[in-house]
This record gives sequence, C-alpha cells and structure tokens, in this order.
Amino acid sequence: MKLDQFPPEVQGAVMPKIGGRYLYRCLGCESLFGIEELLYTCPKCDSVLLIEDMEWGRLKEIPGEKWRRIFDYRKMTNLPALNGIYLFHELIGSIIPLEDIVYLGEGRTPVVSANSALKEWAGMDFCYKNDGQNPSASFKDRGMASAFSYLNYLINKRGVRDVLAICASTGDTSASAALYASYLCANVKSAVLLPAGKVTPQQLGQPLGSGARVIEIPGVFDDCMKVVEYLSENFSVALMNSKNAWRILGQESYSYEIAQAYDYEVGGLAVVAPIGNAGNITAILAGFLKMYDLRIIDTLPQVIGVQSEHANPVYLYYLEPEESKRQFHAVSVRPSVAQAAMIGNPVSMPRVIKLVEQYRRLAGEEAVRFVQVSEQEIMDAMLIANRNGHIACTQGGECLAGLRKAAAENKVDRNRTAVLDATAHALKFAVFQDKYFTDGFEPEFEVLPKKEMRNAPFSLSLPASVPSPAGGRLAPEEFRRFVEYAASVVAEVLELKPLR
Ligand SMILES: *Cc1c(COP(=O)(O)O)cnc(C)c1O
Ligand SMILES: [Zn+2]
Repeated sequence: MKLDQFPPEVQGAVMPKIGGRYLYRCLGCESLFGIEELLYTCPKCDSVLLIEDMEWGRLKEIPGEKWRRIFDYRKMTNLPALNGIYLFHELIGSIIPLEDIVYLGEGRTPVVSANSALKEWAGMDFCYKNDGQNPSASFKDRGMASAFSYLNYLINKRGVRDVLAICASTGDTSASAALYASYLCANVKSAVLLPAGKVTPQQLGQPLGSGARVIEIPGVFDDCMKVVEYLSENFSVALMNSKNAWRILGQESYSYEIAQAYDYEVGGLAVVAPIGNAGNITAILAGFLKMYDLRIIDTLPQVIGVQSEHANPVYLYYLEPEESKRQFHAVSVRPSVAQAAMIGNPVSMPRVIKLVEQYRRLAGEEAVRFVQVSEQEIMDAMLIANRNGHIACTQGGECLAGLRKAAAENKVDRNRTAVLDATAHALKFAVFQDKYFTDGFEPEFEVLPKKEMRNAPFSLSLPASVPSPAGGRLAPEEFRRFVEYAASVVAEVLELKPLR
C-alpha cells in the first residue's frame, strides 16, 4: 500500500522517524557508555552490556493501541527497509536512518501449526516458527541485520573504514555474519572461528561461499569464544558474537513478530526456545518486556528455555529454587546433536539472570521455566516433527522435546498454545538425521535409533539380462525393457494395485 492511502491518524507514523538516545548499559556496575565506539564488555568491570534508549519514555506517550495500528499498517508498506526487523524501528534501532538499514530478507518468518497427531504427541497445542526460512537459514539473521545495519550506519555517517567483522561460532553465527559482511563487501571483510569438526558440512560451506576467512580451531565453541574475545580486546575488529549488544536488540524482533502474528494477544502463549549462548532467550524476554512496558501487549506469555543434558548450565542454575542461593557454574559440554546450542559457559548468562528476575516479578515465578531433555529425546522429537510436515533442525527438535517434557511435568499449562522456535533449517543438520538412519552415532551421543523411525533409500539393481541406462542412452526397444522391469520392481516395493 502507498503511504497516501493509509488512514490519516497513522499516516504520519507509518514512516519511522529518527529518534531516541541509545547507550550501552553495563549489567554489572550499571555504568553507561556512548555507542560511537563498538563496545562488547564494560571497560570498568568487564560485564556484558545491553543497549538502552535513554528517551524510551517518549514512546510510552503513544498508547499501546496506536502502536499496534502503526505496526500493522507498516506491515502493508512495500519498503524493503521496513520489511524485516525494522518494522519495529522504534523498539529496535530508532537512531538508524532507513537508508543505512541492511535488509536481506530476515524476520517475519512463518508460524506453522502442528497437525492434530503431532499436537497429541506433544501433549498440547503448538506451532513452529520457522526461523530456518531466514536468509542464512537460522534465527541469527535478525541479530546480524541489526549489528550490520549499525555498522553500515557507522561506515556511511561516521567514516568508519576497513572493518574486519569477526566471530566465534557453533556454525550459524558465522554463516550469518559472513552473509551480511559479503553484502557490504566494499567496506567489511569477515573472519570466522569455528571449532574444528564441530560444525556440519553445510554450516562450513556457508561462510566459505560468502567469501569469509574461515579458521578452524581445535576444541569446542567455548574455546573459540575465548580466542575471539582476546582478539577483540587487543586488535581492531568488530565482534559479531551475541556479546555485541546490537545482536540482542535485533533478535528482539522475534517476540514482536510473534505478538503481531497473534494480534497482540500473547497471554495464552508459551514461547519455547533452545538455549546455547543464551542470546536468543535474552532477546525473547527483553522483547516481550518492552512491548508490555509500552502496553502493546497487556499480558506476558510464558517463556520456556530448553537445554540438552549434554550442555545444561542454565538449567542447572535454575534448579535451585531460592534466588539468593543460586550459583552459576560453567559446565564441560558433551557431544550433542543440538550442536548449535552446545555451550557450557553462555556469554549472556548475566543478561538472562537479570531479565528472568524482572519477568518473574511482573508475571510470576511460573512465567519462565527451564527444562532439560536427553539427546535421544531431541532426535526422536525432530524426526517426528519432520514426519509431520515441519522443517525443524535438531534445536527445533530440542524445543519440541522440551515442550513435551514440560507438559508431562506440569511446567506448562496445557491450555496454552506453544510457539516453538525451529531455530535453523533441517537441512543444515542433515548429518544427524543421517547418523540416526544409518545407526552411525558415536556412543558419546547416547542416541539409539528406533527402528520405526529409520528411513533409507531402496536401491534398485538390475539383473544382467535387463539393459541399464547407466552406461549411456539405450536403443528404444532396450529402453522399453528397462522401464518395464524397473516399474515392476517399484510397483512390488510400493505394493501398488494394478489398474483394472
Ligand atoms: C545459535 C543457535 C542456538 C542457540 O541460541 P543462543 O542464542 O546461543 O542461545 C540454537 N539453535 C540454533 C540453530 C542456533 O544457530
Ligand atoms: Zn560495568
């Protein structure tokens, strides 16, 4: 729809205006820092940061009902800059001019309802939000769109040059960072550090294809992260991990999109996400809290974080019911099919602690829950989801396994509708499906394939008497014999009934 066709009362607000005053806020000592310089940790106390709009109060002068109308009408515009996460410009980056926004098709991913068989299996109503349908095929693109739009703004308006964007990754962060960097190729180069042998071939191919410098490091993600942190403290690089608070800001769009998809009635939802470095869950909590503060939503949904038994520091932390007694301990991870969440020392833990406390104060103790699932449960859930029309990755399977467990343990009200994050596309994690189908899991994974869940191609072989097209084109009569033979075998395998 064109701007002059909108109703007069929203016309002036559909095009976002530059506004606000953004600062980094330290979660440790509360200090504030200017955003002109890229900061990742507090220069005073080393804690992580979040971005805060010092003029947030101005947004509260607009009633929630008006915000809903603004966002809904804005959705009808065809401006690329507003088609992604910046649909929610005022909440996500109101200091960034539209011409600096980098939009590669991220955000606004489809919400797909589970069929009745799958709902029954899970124990309640749910749907998947298909974040695998983002440009680099994972939810990480929302945060990268934000971080790279800000970088682009610094390049265009502040004359920043020759940026090296760098990140450590369990696979998807690097795929996303490399993609967005390649779009700004004149001014931004990218380098990614990956744990050797701990990302899938698809995830390794993505940054290579985008032209990034790929460096494989012995160890796990947590080790790569330490190297990247050292680099960011001692060299001129732009850190693109979720330590970068711009990433979190962009990922908040996930909550805004859910709210919009449910006409802002989210009080009956349970939002379920896997936890690795805990950036996603941070953004989900922050996003709903912001909308609640602006009265865009009038009830907070329940939020459920899921971890694998093989990488469960957040789950263990919240096992202790008494807040004052909780103590965070990093864990040593064990091999996990939810490889993108295989993190023992989540960078965003201080953010989670702060936001969970805030969230529970407003919506009650049960408003945020954590569950843990086994590797077996993750694999089985993913395969069942995908046999019922979904495109869930292993972390999406982790969500479903977590929901099923939460429903069984009464950690979620079964009358709710759950929204599960299918955080990446199934194709990225095809190796784990393959291990399952071929019974190829190393014992450390603790996954035993269930016979009824396995699938394998039937391979047609031809007896010597039947001509084969494999060696080249056959003469018509020979080709006819091949087709007849092959069709008869296929018909037998599929138990086809002949036409009368
Ligand atoms: C990064 C990632 C996760 C974990 O998210 P965090 O923000 O690190 O907690 C889960 N699933 C996929 C597919 C990911 O790429
Ligand atoms: Zn500090």
